[in-house]
Amino acid sequence: MHSPSLNTKPPSITSLSSPRILQICEALTWIAIALCAGWLAFYIVAGYTLIAVSVGMMGVAMIVSLMMLKAGMVHAGLIFPQVTSFLFICNFALCFDIPDADTPRILHIYLLVIALVGYVNYQRQRSWLQIGIIVACLAGFAIFASSNFTLAAETPLTGTIRGPFALVNAGILATLFSGIFVVIQSDAANNGSFVRELLLGVSRGEFELFYQPQVDREGRTIGAEALLRWNHPKRGYVSPAEFIPLAERSGIMPKIGSWVLKEGCQTLAAWNDDTARQHLTLSINITADQFLLTDFVQLVEGTVKTYGVDPKRLKLELTESVFVADVEGLVAKMTALQDIGIGVALDDFGTGYSSLSYLRRLPLTQLKIDRSFVRGVSENETDASLAKTIVQMGHDLSLDVLAEGVETEAQYRFMLDCGCSALQGYYFGRPMTLADFELRLPTTI
Ligand code: C2E
Ligand code: MG
Ligand code: MG
Repeated sequence: MHSPSLNTKPPSITSLSSPRILQICEALTWIAIALCAGWLAFYIVAGYTLIAVSVGMMGVAMIVSLMMLKAGMVHAGLIFPQVTSFLFICNFALCFDIPDADTPRILHIYLLVIALVGYVNYQRQRSWLQIGIIVACLAGFAIFASSNFTLAAETPLTGTIRGPFALVNAGILATLFSGIFVVIQSDAANNGSFVRELLLGVSRGEFELFYQPQVDREGRTIGAEALLRWNHPKRGYVSPAEFIPLAERSGIMPKIGSWVLKEGCQTLAAWNDDTARQHLTLSINITADQFLLTDFVQLVEGTVKTYGVDPKRLKLELTESVFVADVEGLVAKMTALQDIGIGVALDDFGTGYSSLSYLRRLPLTQLKIDRSFVRGVSENETDASLAKTIVQMGHDLSLDVLAEGVETEAQYRFMLDCGCSALQGYYFGRPMTLADFELRLPTTI
């Protein structure tokens, strides 16, 4: 078996930007904590015990949210403060912030801030719960803005305090809205320039393919997965996880993907001329927007023909994100590819939501078990039995099963016992340059 020591460590991958949305929400939570602390002191001094208790509870909720975010509970850490703020503001608007002839109600305007934050969070992760919170905030704002409705148990702020209270809150709200607007606008500008840089990167030849070995049960290299790297002149190697989602959103992924396909086919054509490498397959990742192009099959077929590649050596890796399309259309495309001889693998299997009956209808060649299922197999019984079940599922669908993310000897042995026919992971080799990948292969006889 190939020794992992043959791997050259990939150059360090820099992060272009840590998730901005998370940063914005974290900053807003800090602001909310500071505001709660300030108002808490004010209400204690002013002798409004009930309001002070309610503001104190709100402050605690914000601290809990921050702790959730720090502990990596991103989704909960962003939803929880929105729900608690919504409840706090509705309660405050109904019981304490009672409009009078001199001063209007003000606190309900914060509901618009929560709706805006919710919208920003929705860009990060789409969820019905998030939509529900946004709708509730907008509805709450509309109701409070258009009526003087209050609860019978009202304990309003007195006239002397209401004036400064409204003024201070109006100032805070104006600052918050301007701040959020500036951040969103500068982010949009950054994304725009990032997309321009990506396009320039394609034309300047800054993209490279790295190759990660795929091995058979005996550990012999049977092929590779081509993994895209952007060698940015200033930032160094940029991870595909950073730029592919943005490239997808801005519609330039088909352009980048077609470069990957050409580059991969060029490599396959070169291997074809070498008897020691002719047997190798190359797996290429395809995004949903690429696969769903109407002329995708013709594009692949054309590229394969142009480079004189044996189509049987080429595999296309799709993820479950393509399942947004109608199943008949998918089946037709996959069948057309297989008629040419090109294999279709389902990547990151187990992380999506597709049902077995859906998968059964798709003419796939290979299932790639996601590395999250392989990670714990040698330490955790639940993970082990889950991995076994997922491999069994693949076999039940009569598919060839490859285990991704194998990092240790123990994981390798376990996945072999499960019946995987191929494996991939750092244990066999990290993604590496073509030159390094070819160095680890036996030389031409
Ligand atoms: P993927 O297709 O599932 O590729 C496997 C990812 O897991 C690669 O990350 C690889 O470096 C990493 N990996 C492999 N073995 C191990 C292991 O043992 N342990 C750990 N922790 N990680 C391992 P990479 O290169 O950062 O790529 C990330 C994702 O970006 C890929 O996931 C794929 O979805 C996407 N991608 C990469 N290149 C392309 C491309 O050319 N086109 C498209 N459409 N997507 C690409
Ligand atoms: Mg892949
Ligand atoms: Mg994968």
